[in-house]
Amino acid sequence: MRNDVSVNWAGNLTYSASAVARPGTPDELAEIIGGSGRVKALGSRHSFCDVADTTGTHVLLDAYDDGRPAVVVDPVTGVASLRAGLLYGQAGDALLEQGRALRTMASLPHISLAGAVATATHGSGDTNGCLASDVVGLELVTADGASRTLRRGDADFPGAVVALGALGVVTRVETATDPAFEVRQDVVVDLPWDALLAELDTITGSAYSVSAFTRWGEDSVSQVWLKSRADGSSSRDTGSGDGGQARRSARDLLLGLGARDAPGPMHPLAGEDPAASTVQGGVPGPAHQRLPHFRAEHTPSTGAELQSEYLVPREHAAEAIRAVRGLGRTVAPLLLAGEIRTVAGDDLWLSPFDGDTLALHFTWRPDIDAVRTVLRDLEAALLPLGARPHWGKIFVATPGEVAAMFPRFADFAALANRLDPRGKFRGGYLDDILPA
Ligand SMILES: Cc1cc2nc3c(=O)[nH]c(=O)nc-3n(C[C@H](O)[C@H](O)[C@H](O)COP(=O)(O)OP(=O)(O)OC[C@H]3O[C@@H](n4cnc5c(N)ncnc54)[C@H](O)[C@@H]3O)c2cc1C
Repeated sequence: MRNDVSVNWAGNLTYSASAVARPGTPDELAEIIGGSGRVKALGSRHSFCDVADTTGTHVLLDAYDDGRPAVVVDPVTGVASLRAGLLYGQAGDALLEQGRALRTMASLPHISLAGAVATATHGSGDTNGCLASDVVGLELVTADGASRTLRRGDADFPGAVVALGALGVVTRVETATDPAFEVRQDVVVDLPWDALLAELDTITGSAYSVSAFTRWGEDSVSQVWLKSRADGSSSRDTGSGDGGQARRSARDLLLGLGARDAPGPMHPLAGEDPAASTVQGGVPGPAHQRLPHFRAEHTPSTGAELQSEYLVPREHAAEAIRAVRGLGRTVAPLLLAGEIRTVAGDDLWLSPFDGDTLALHFTWRPDIDAVRTVLRDLEAALLPLGARPHWGKIFVATPGEVAAMFPRFADFAALANRLDPRGKFRGGYLDDILPA
């Protein structure tokens, strides 16, 4: 199933596409897009909802070659120009060879650059924005078959990065990178809930990237993964390592709050093999091999699952956590894992991170009807706090409700209608959410 492009990665969605195309050259891509029917780019198929669906031709970029190297780094700015169909793990490997590193990663390295950026996919860290927030330029082929380049500073750019595939097929992503850096990962277990709530900001700021795993119905937070830069800095911007003080204090802080060291390597989902998890136990390694939770050569998470996520303005973080805990008995029976992360804000029109944000993630058992029932309760509790759903996961808010969550949605719709006046790149829920 994992290699079957007629279904998504989780297998919960069969696409409506009538054809699949794998263009090898810019001319072939332009010809496919310039045809009369609907077209939609498909990434690595890791979205759980129908954001990537089309009734026309699915375009995969895994054989696409624009005649330039897959990864080109500007030696002065550190900006990397990357083929859009690359997976994040592949990009991390190639950048490391050139002495560079992506600044942030999602929980898995298996997702494509263009697909992850299009849905505002994110990792964790008080100073880490979503993956799209590091993007400084895009090359895309629009409905007329022409290739366009948009860069930060262009009027359309903030609308074009998190764009749900609605503006065209992105062929290159230009992203900021840092000099290569190492990260160590320490896992602690059984952090009391009261401690998490009382010290939330201190905990999330104690390491470069912090993830707390919970099944919500329990007395304590089952695991906290602390990903610390080996140079000791806990944010992107300090630049000054403190010789290990910060990394010791992150773990020490959690132990002082009542957590315990993990007994050995952990997997975020109870009962799953920790061999699939990235290296723990404080062993430093390249950033792109520690910032994700899952190793590139293993199946991430479990596979038999559905996912939802709500992005809550940071000022409502404690209230949102208390609200979900209050639903613990409803949520827990369906839940395989819950995760709490933080994400820094950005200025992209469809980014759910328009300020600093708390991300509340849910990995569900694959029972869509039961999941939708629980989501109604969760959304009733979280949407009044300003929460927005993840574009690539499952939610029950109506298209009108979702559009109203984004102040620049009308501008995005106007941009989509200008670049794609006949709705070639619509499909799935884009047909409902974008006015014709
Ligand atoms: C196990 C698992 C773990 C996950 N962990 C995280 C996580 O940690 N954080 C998080 O935020 N999300 C996470 N997700 C969700 C996932 O990152 C998003 O759904 C993401 O969009 C997947 O990227 P993709 O390449 O599979 O995109 P797809 O699902 O294939 O497509 C998503 C969208 O991108 C568009 N697109 C794809 N390629 C292009 C292109 N070349 N040009 C234009 N548009 C394009 C599609 O048209 C579609 O609209 C996880 C998903 C799974 C299955």
